[in-house]
Amino acid sequence: MIIDIPENSDFSIHNIPFGMFSTKDGSPRAGVAIGDHILDLVAVHGLGAFDFEVSVLERNDLNDFIALGKKVTSKVRTDIQKWLQDDSSILAGKQNLFVRQSDAQMHMPICVGDYTDFYSSIEHATNVGKMFRDPENALLPNWKHIPVGYHGRASSIIPSGEPIYRPKGQTIPQDAKQPIFGPTQRLDFELEMGFVVGKNTEMGDAVSTNDAEDHIFGLVLFNDWSARDIQKWEYVPLGPFLAKNFASSISPWIVTLEALEPFKVEGPKQEPKVLPYLEYEGKKNYDINLEVGISPKNEKETTVCYSNFKYMYWNMAQQLAHHTVNGCNIHVGDMMASGTISGKEENSFGSMLELAWMGTKPIQINDGSERKFIQDGDTVTMRGYAQKGDIRVGFGEVSTKVLPAK
Ligand code: MN
Repeated sequence: MIIDIPENSDFSIHNIPFGMFSTKDGSPRAGVAIGDHILDLVAVHGLGAFDFEVSVLERNDLNDFIALGKKVTSKVRTDIQKWLQDDSSILAGKQNLFVRQSDAQMHMPICVGDYTDFYSSIEHATNVGKMFRDPENALLPNWKHIPVGYHGRASSIIPSGEPIYRPKGQTIPQDAKQPIFGPTQRLDFELEMGFVVGKNTEMGDAVSTNDAEDHIFGLVLFNDWSARDIQKWEYVPLGPFLAKNFASSISPWIVTLEALEPFKVEGPKQEPKVLPYLEYEGKKNYDINLEVGISPKNEKETTVCYSNFKYMYWNMAQQLAHHTVNGCNIHVGDMMASGTISGKEENSFGSMLELAWMGTKPIQINDGSERKFIQDGDTVTMRGYAQKGDIRVGFGEVSTKVLPAK
């Protein structure tokens, strides 16, 4: 191996995720994570390693690189895997190709054109339906027939490390007749995964569940910040608006679908049967362990949630097939998030809303405090990794500090 990779690193030789980074003395450029380091792809290009223009690696995002297509991007990944394992490869003896992750700043890996958020975890939809609507009929009649989603806001998607401000808005106090305006009292995270579209379609085209993987470049961890009190007042009749559009945070490394191939598993049985355009063949869910931690200001982290991406009722292929079945066009860099990923167990719920059950069951934090929702000064960190025998492929983390309202 050309470079040391710590045991249990998320960024093993099996992973090779893509991201955008910069160091003190350089502008943003593309890199891949390997162990505690970043392999600088512009520098590797300088060795004559790739037969595409270097400019696609030097833009502010990976969109043009991804747009080269999987034939190119997959080969970059597998070539790098080969070179890193071969002590006489073109990378040998060239320490200047590597940057310590601790010396680098990570940026948004893509320019997000459009962002869609699904609502695809049956456990989450059931929990929220029970709390916000009807405990007896928690799921709306369409839920098992349609991968429900809404169009979100791309401008406020930010990378890990960038803080957010507590949003302000309209809420209606219990039993009040008039709304009030002020900072949200119910700031929440949503544990999600997002996939990055890797191939354009034209208006009128639909992507089948069979072809969907061809259109998905890779995945990131996704924290879909939410203000529950604002949401409760505004979401009827049209759905989320200011309760959601103030921020979503992502992990900076895009883990490719190829790297996740070993972790494919069967999804939950779908009953009743779905319409033909939503039927699919083979394994389309992924076994990815997920967790969420909360660190109060200057305090150690408490893990509050353990979930798994495999719980999703609707898979990514079905989401993409549904999204495009009406002819809606999609573009490289579009972000599609899963919806909150909750499991069956109480400690697997993917939001504070569910974990603390609308504030009725506060969560204990290691410093002795309690949380019903997220407080100013708290840092919320999501992590995710897949593991099968010795093969580990991880996402690193998305970590965001909450600042008081501006
Ligand atoms: Mn969401």
